[in-house]
Amino acid sequence: MPVSKAWRERLGNAHDTRQHARQWRARRIRQPALLDFAGNDYLGLAKDPRVQNAQAEGARRFGAGAGASHLVNGHLAIHEALEEALATWTGRERALLFSTGYMANLGVLQALADTDTAIFHDRLNHASLLDGSALSGARSRRYHHNDIDDLTRLMARSACTHKLVVSDGVFSMDGDVADIAALAQVSQQHDAWLMIDDAHGMGVMGVNGSGCVGPRWNSQQVPILVGTLGKALGTGGAFVAGDALLIDHLTQFARSYVYTTAQPPSVAAATLQALTIVQREPEHRERLARHISYFREEALRLNLPLGESRTPIQPLLLGSESHLMLWAERLHHAGIDVGAIRPPTVPKGESRLRITLSARHSRGDIDQLLETLDACRREIS
Ligand code: PMP
Repeated sequence: MPVSKAWRERLGNAHDTRQHARQWRARRIRQPALLDFAGNDYLGLAKDPRVQNAQAEGARRFGAGAGASHLVNGHLAIHEALEEALATWTGRERALLFSTGYMANLGVLQALADTDTAIFHDRLNHASLLDGSALSGARSRRYHHNDIDDLTRLMARSACTHKLVVSDGVFSMDGDVADIAALAQVSQQHDAWLMIDDAHGMGVMGVNGSGCVGPRWNSQQVPILVGTLGKALGTGGAFVAGDALLIDHLTQFARSYVYTTAQPPSVAAATLQALTIVQREPEHRERLARHISYFREEALRLNLPLGESRTPIQPLLLGSESHLMLWAERLHHAGIDVGAIRPPTVPKGESRLRITLSARHSRGDIDQLLETLDACRREIS
């Protein structure tokens, strides 16, 4: 392939970096033999036979793909049924399906914000929220993590007509939870809209697993609620829930909704089944909550550098990247897969093991993880 010098430079001459990226990706092919403490299938629904069968049956009934975008003729009755169920679950008037959470966040921010909008981001917000802001042309400000005083200061200084406060519900790399009550209050005081991306709270937190927001906070308090389906619900895709006015606007103007093929109907069918399980079977959430308590108690007893989190995301804050990679290697050799999170995903000096717990784990799995972490601490530190 003839590539000009300019392009070669853009793609990077750093052979080592490329080599490293390639090796890393090859390593990331999931090895079923490894104990999985890295994924986001918090309730084990991705492998639930009822969800798997619903997907297979959905593909037979509706086809393997939607065949068109929602606004052409890719919107099927199964999508409509799922949207209605998601709206009811979260206590919202309507819900709108997107093909991924990344696309939902891009679509919402691009459709709602413009150059006369100020978007206030928690410093630890997910990359898709930051990318959506950039795409919209809005002025972005980042407040210190979960710091309502800092947010209030920034909002008071802003002269923009439209203000939008945006936060993760459960922070994806730290596992801590946003203070929804305080965010809702301060947003209302400053005539700002509040958008919560509850990707990691849905299915796990709140009444009936409806997340950090759910019906507990109404659409005056949290007008824009985003949930993803590829984590606790075990399938894929995402939705935005809110009032009809919001959803009608997004249906017309969110470009990542309009100009893309609708979610495969088989995935919608599987998600409806997963949602039924989440609502009817609290035992999976209860088992997960017991795992979280047990893991935290034991990890603290072993003096592991645990973060402050009561969710399935349990970071071990190791600091340096080289240190992190030694722990990750050691765990891998012991047959355990964990997330090794480094800059630029987290700030420099804040590298961490991202350990995720699931209802699918057994107590024995968690003991095996704890034993290996203890060995890492003794051998590596
Ligand atoms: N928001 C947050 C907070 C996330 O952690 C993620 C996934 N990592 C997304 C959005 C994107 O969701 P999806 O994987 O469905 O694109």
